[in-house]
Amino acid sequence: MSLSRRETLKIPAGVILASALARSPVAAQSSHTKIVLLGTTGGPPLQVARAAPSNAIVVGGALYVVDCGNGVARQIVQAGLRLNALKSIFITHHHSDHNLDYGNLFYFAWYSSLRDQVNSYGPPPLAEMTSKYFELNAFDIDIRMRDEKKPDPRKLLVPHEMTSAGVVMQDDHVKVTCVLADHPPLPVALSYRFDTDDRSVVFSGDTRKTGALIELAKGADVFVCEAQHLPGVRSALDQAVQAGRFDKDTAADLFKSISGNALTVEQAGEVAQAAGVKKLVLSHFVPGNGAVPDQVFVDEARKAFSGEIIAGRDLLEL
Ligand SMILES: [Zn+2]
Repeated sequence: MSLSRRETLKIPAGVILASALARSPVAAQSSHTKIVLLGTTGGPPLQVARAAPSNAIVVGGALYVVDCGNGVARQIVQAGLRLNALKSIFITHHHSDHNLDYGNLFYFAWYSSLRDQVNSYGPPPLAEMTSKYFELNAFDIDIRMRDEKKPDPRKLLVPHEMTSAGVVMQDDHVKVTCVLADHPPLPVALSYRFDTDDRSVVFSGDTRKTGALIELAKGADVFVCEAQHLPGVRSALDQAVQAGRFDKDTAADLFKSISGNALTVEQAGEVAQAAGVKKLVLSHFVPGNGAVPDQVFVDEARKAFSGEIIAGRDLLEL
């Protein structure tokens, strides 16, 4: 925990030095970058086998979150991370599996005695979504501000809309860059790269195969990439038709759109190989219901990638 300038000034210099020395092994440890897969399924259906897409990066005691699928705050706590360490939120694109709990993540961090401002980054309409979230929950927020003396959360969350490639943000711990992903029919979708003192990690988000993603992932230590197994998608849709959840034409349209707007797991391997990443971590499993064994996903990616491949699972620390 860091002391504010005012708190620091109250303590004699020798005490600060002694306590800094005593804490130095811990401080060294905390500068190590930790990556945690919070949720590893993909797509709008609620899955029991895996939680919705989200990832945590922890460096220097600060928490950075990429995507906010349903249940993200609970997954953070399950991972043993502190909600009030939240510093920045990055949304790859505005599909529900990636943004449904954007506001809720911030809410739980605020309720966990968050003190510092949180910045969020993502495609438009992030700013409107932020203000409408506060509007939706104004009744509760106003009561808690009055009765529990909570600070005004509207002053603690600052959205930044991203529409082009480049540097997203940079602080003492991390530099974040992005490229435009290709995820029709969305007008803007993003892939992110985090560079810290000791590691680099890239999150594909949902995207077709692009040169920009290969460029972004060049030489990364860890490449967290979506993994879609098309025969598995087809059989999941067939089952949905049999169960009466879709008619045949709707299922055919869905298959066309699912298969045409994102990377297959074999293409994930191709991107990893072309970019020369050290480790490919499969995540955003589609189907994410456990019907296709992890090893099948890994074998598909292996067709193109010769490096280390990990089948991601919820709460896996990398
Ligand atoms: Zn998705």
